[in-house]
Amino acid sequence: MCIFCKIVIGEIPNNTVHENDNFLAFHDLYPKAPIHILIIPKEHVDCFQNVPSGTMAKLTTFAQEVATKVGVDKSGYRLITNNGDDGGQEVHHLHFHMLGGGKLKWGHLHDETRKSL
Ligand code: 5GP
Ligand code: ZN
Repeated sequence: MCIFCKIVIGEIPNNTVHENDNFLAFHDLYPKAPIHILIIPKEHVDCFQNVPSGTMAKLTTFAQEVATKVGVDKSGYRLITNNGDDGGQEVHHLHFHMLGGGKLKWGHLHDETRKSL
């Protein structure tokens, strides 16, 4: 079982922000911004490339609720998913990073591309 599935069943503790029957939002253990929330479907799906569009439709509403709950709905935030090896995905259970709480830089460019800018 993957670590996020273990979080869903409570085997690994988490700091929950918001939850419903289908999704869970919790604080990232190693935050990369003042606010760094992970949003996951409770049912295991490995990555964005394989998620059904119906799940994404519901996840949209859930993510908007999370943003309101943590107070970044007006100030703004970044919602990203790392998909696969080149995307830098480390946990192979679909998750969206909600980053906010301050101005974010655009810091995830490809190294060679960055050099040519
Ligand atoms: P990825 O690199 O796969 O897009 O992101 C995985 C994220 O999961 C990372 O930001 C990492 O800090 C976070 N993470 C890894 N293990 C745990 C954990 O056990 N608990 C929590 N809350 N976050 C975790
Ligand atoms: Zn999983």
